[in-house]
Amino acid sequence: MLTLHFDASLQQLVPRRYQNEGRVHYPLTRRASIKDIVESLHIPHTEVWTITRGNREFSFSHIPHADEEISLHSFPDGVDVTQPTFLRPTPLAKAAFSVDVNVGKLARLLRMAGIDTWYDPRLTEEELAVASARHGRILLSRNRDLLQRKCITWGRLVRAEMPEEQLTEIISLYGLHRHLAPFSRCLECNALLQPVDKSSILDRLEPLTRKYYHRFKRCPDCDRTYWQGSHHRRMLRLMEKYQTA
Ligand SMILES: [Zn+2]
Repeated sequence: MLTLHFDASLQQLVPRRYQNEGRVHYPLTRRASIKDIVESLHIPHTEVWTITRGNREFSFSHIPHADEEISLHSFPDGVDVTQPTFLRPTPLAKAAFSVDVNVGKLARLLRMAGIDTWYDPRLTEEELAVASARHGRILLSRNRDLLQRKCITWGRLVRAEMPEEQLTEIISLYGLHRHLAPFSRCLECNALLQPVDKSSILDRLEPLTRKYYHRFKRCPDCDRTYWQGSHHRRMLRLMEKYQTA
């Protein structure tokens, strides 16, 4: 019997019928890679950081023997996706994301934090998976089947339920604290905002906004105007939590 040891975080994803304090006795009836075996338990390969036996590290294509004992470890906090690892030898240029509809509210929060985030609810699962892989974006989803797709190397099965907790999860996991840039991206379309003179947009502003606010930014793509109003204060309060964390 093949024995798989899952660490605490992965253990939460193991189906109940296999749960045994993180140890899964897997009836090996066919020649299969460790990736196929793990995904047959409905645990997406995107959640596995390392696969080891003692000091030896394995790739996803490792074919275990029937009596082997293998340990699987989840991503540690503060992972640097720009560094190659044994399981993911081709690193990403930077931590940029694409967001699935089932965590749609997270997209706006990530953009609020200034993090490069794609979100297009019109895409099919297939299109989302292919675009994420092709453009080197980490796919954030709560859909295990989507993350199990072959083309995906970088993804995260988002564990938190509430959007602000999901933001905390992603900032911690990818060590984004140092990269936060609130009020720098368009919340609607992800483009980088540009400062704009108040005098050039006066005709667009409501009277009270015109009276009380002086610093404005404009989205070069969708032409929305942003100012440092109440919405901005809420954003800063949220960001302070992470910057001091
Ligand atoms: Zn925009």
